[in-house]
Amino acid sequence: MLDSRPYFFAPDTLSMLRRIAKKLGLSKKRKTSGPHIVPPGSHPIEPADLSRAASEVVSGLEQAGYKAYVVGGCVRDLMLGLKPKDFDVATDATPEQAKVVFRRAQIIGRRFRIVHVRFGREVIEVTTFRAHHTSSPGNDKNLSRQSKEGMLLRDNVFGSIDEDASRRDFSVNAMYYHPTDNTIYDYADGLKDLEQKTLRIIGDAATRYREDPVRMLRAARFAAKLDFELDAKTFAPIAECAPLLGDISSARLFDESLKLLMSGAALATYEQLRQLSLFAELFPQTAPLLDDDFYQKLISQAMRNTDARINNRQRVTPAFIYAALLWPALIEQRKHYTDKGDSPLYALQQAGSDAIQQQIKRTAIPRRFTTMMKEIWELQARLNRRNGQNAERVFSHPRFRAAYDFLLLREQAGEQTQGLGEWWTLYQEVDEDEREAMVAALPRPKSGNKRRRSRRKPKADHAS
Ligand code: ATP
Ligand code: MG
Repeated sequence: MLDSRPYFFAPDTLSMLRRIAKKLGLSKKRKTSGPHIVPPGSHPIEPADLSRAASEVVSGLEQAGYKAYVVGGCVRDLMLGLKPKDFDVATDATPEQAKVVFRRAQIIGRRFRIVHVRFGREVIEVTTFRAHHTSSPGNDKNLSRQSKEGMLLRDNVFGSIDEDASRRDFSVNAMYYHPTDNTIYDYADGLKDLEQKTLRIIGDAATRYREDPVRMLRAARFAAKLDFELDAKTFAPIAECAPLLGDISSARLFDESLKLLMSGAALATYEQLRQLSLFAELFPQTAPLLDDDFYQKLISQAMRNTDARINNRQRVTPAFIYAALLWPALIEQRKHYTDKGDSPLYALQQAGSDAIQQQIKRTAIPRRFTTMMKEIWELQARLNRRNGQNAERVFSHPRFRAAYDFLLLREQAGEQTQGLGEWWTLYQEVDEDEREAMVAALPRPKSGNKRRRSRRKPKADHAS
């Protein structure tokens, strides 16, 4: 049975991996180069485990005369009895050659050109085997380009499957499965590392992180998702190389942040990121505030709640997670405005905008999410003001539910709100008459507040 939850491998998965490792003599030092070949019957994968789209992409490429394998996370996850998130195909066809094989295919990317083949809602990433870069002058700059620091700005040098394997990030991600002969080709001792629950980078760790600093984030992600240990050499250079993430585009880092936080293992990933000194690279405003117990609890709880929702197949939005991640910065910055005499609502709005402006330098949060974050934050103030028509208006706001969940999160982290969360929980459960009675029973707002607030009323009140 496949199981998409993190951490929990089928009970016999590790003993099965141990049997394979023993049979193949993986514990002994390697004498020959080339892959370990794991024939049918010696591994748990069946061609039927592939999605139809993945099978069709492999057979389409083969019928057109190319080599094709499924590779990477899908092979790793199938070996572990987990449900693959997606299927990636590696081939000796160039992107142009692969594109013409399929009706709905598109070449995407510049730094790393690949082909997306679409089958209904499923997209298969088809990657041409990559090779090492030579420093020979005259190379086409769209094929190979490297920064002074060693970062690969273009990674489009094509090569053989052996070379491709050595260009992949971790040993457990360099296993190729060929559905036609139902055989696994393990190029970097990934099977041994799977069995030992070790995440090992291929090649010299510091060089590989310099080539692509995002590999450090991927290390944190896989260690958390799979509950693997980073091997010592993979771990060692991370703290020193972490600042290289500053050279990665904010758009790519936003995408990566979603993979880190929305994979069902956000809490474990967050803890890995902190241990590896990577969290501060992604969230520089939040990281220094985590010594504060409330902030630390708030973020951990947000991660825990996100995992629970994902694992219950409930919807999660990046806006909510980001709203939580930036809440500490907002609270700190808000003091700056209230000290100047600004109204609480105005201070909250300005502090929110400031936090977002800073954050998007690191992770380019799309506007649809920043808008929603601002609404969630602003509703925190409005959830408090329940007199008259206020409660009804807040309740009918499209972001009410997210804002209410955010209020509960603040309470879970230890904020004292005089039972505000409970009040709103009840409000949602009762009928209209009872709601009116709940509002009528509230203490009257102090007079004088209103005048002060209205004088400074900000333009962008989202009240509907
Ligand atoms: P998942 O899809 O479960 O998140 P994955 O390992 O499949 O994990 P993908 O991002 O889908 O990750 O990448 C597919 C494969 O491509 C990886 O398994 C790895 O072999 C290779 N790969 C991806 N990103 C990099 C990278 N930055 N450097 C080297 N190899 C990479
Ligand atoms: Mg994948």
